[in-house]
Amino acid sequence: MRRRIAVVGSGPAGLTFARVLHRHSHPVTVLERDAAPDARPPGGTLDLHEGLGQLALDKAGLLAEFQALSRPEGQAMRILDTAGTVLRDWRPRPGDRANPEIDRRQLRDLLLGPLDVQWGRGVTQVVPGTRDGVLVEFADGRQETFDLVVGADGAWSRVRPAVSSVTPHYTGVAFVETSLDDVDTRHPGLARLIGDGSLAVYGVNRALVAQRNSGGHVKVYAQFRAPLDWHTNLDLADVEAVRSSLLALFDGWAAPVLDLLRHGTMFVHRPLYVLPVSHTWTHAFGVTLLGDAAHLMPPLGAGANLAMFEGAELAEAIATGPEDLDEAVRAFEEQMWARAGRWAKITTAGLERLVSPDPAEALALFDQVHPS
Ligand SMILES: Cc1cc2nc3c(=O)[nH]c(=O)nc-3n(C[C@H](O)[C@H](O)[C@H](O)COP(=O)(O)OP(=O)(O)OC[C@H]3O[C@@H](n4cnc5c(N)ncnc54)[C@H](O)[C@@H]3O)c2cc1C
Repeated sequence: MRRRIAVVGSGPAGLTFARVLHRHSHPVTVLERDAAPDARPPGGTLDLHEGLGQLALDKAGLLAEFQALSRPEGQAMRILDTAGTVLRDWRPRPGDRANPEIDRRQLRDLLLGPLDVQWGRGVTQVVPGTRDGVLVEFADGRQETFDLVVGADGAWSRVRPAVSSVTPHYTGVAFVETSLDDVDTRHPGLARLIGDGSLAVYGVNRALVAQRNSGGHVKVYAQFRAPLDWHTNLDLADVEAVRSSLLALFDGWAAPVLDLLRHGTMFVHRPLYVLPVSHTWTHAFGVTLLGDAAHLMPPLGAGANLAMFEGAELAEAIATGPEDLDEAVRAFEEQMWARAGRWAKITTAGLERLVSPDPAEALALFDQVHPS
């Protein structure tokens, strides 16, 4: 029997879920608030792990296309101290495809493929347990019912309140993101400094991270511990004011490193919020959550991977698992909660060490992950 299934959100979680269901010829309605795929800048590069994001793409039948698009050389990682001395210069071995990078836009387009996303359909509320199934209410006042509603609508999920009263809290770490274009031609010195992958510089309670995307585009993240209202006397829309404020915050760091901020084109404030480490809820008939909506955690390379893996896992369970949809969802939730809890502990501890009073902690963490 075909069930009426809707997924709210077309990020990595929602699209992977829909694409795997599509592969199993199971209909699914994808509801997305954005008016169009390119309504917002897509964000920085993602590294997809062999056992998570890549496995999900395999379940969607997209692994070969991912391998053709992704950048294994982007796994390279260079660490500097604040004086500009290179402390580590790690490069992947030839053939290493453990965590290759892909631009978010490329990943989104790969997953979108034949999917028929309903753009401009912002969900305001989900009400389980009505006579016709689960009621979905939209920003334009319309309503629809489904047998299962999957909330893949990210950090500030509008589906989550149907199962949990928990909301994200601030970690005490803020990111300010900027970017450089055509870095190889316009800033060749910075291009050499960054190398093929990422560059990280760790100081006391601060870090600067630069990540190469495709086409000579570089994303730079200024990361620092600060109260949520650190920018009270700063106009975040004033590019030069934000630049000056960041240069003051990173005062004394080596000039080539600060050039990452001097040449940045615009600045986006991203305070880091998380859900509690082991966020679970009492199972509700007809509603579940995936990805950041279920387990928002510090951005240390796991969030999109988990989101995609869960999307693929739930879709497979629905398409090939027990006839009883609710039983499939319950079993999926138990697995997701256990796995996400483990990653949330790892990434929470990781953030403490990467933006830390003792920069040696960041180097020690790197050496654990990339033993020489
Ligand atoms: C700076 C930074 C760097 C990161 N780097 C990495 C990395 O290298 N590797 C990694 O694995 N993870 C990384 N992450 C984490 C990763 O971005 C997220 O974990 C991932 O995007 C979560 O996917 P998602 O599909 O659950 O949610 P999202 O990507 O947030 O997608 C949610 C979708 O739902 C839509 N939506 C929201 N509300 C509604 C609504 N009410 N109605 C309809 N649609 C709605 C949104 O428009 C969006 O399209 C990083 C995060 C940040 C902030």
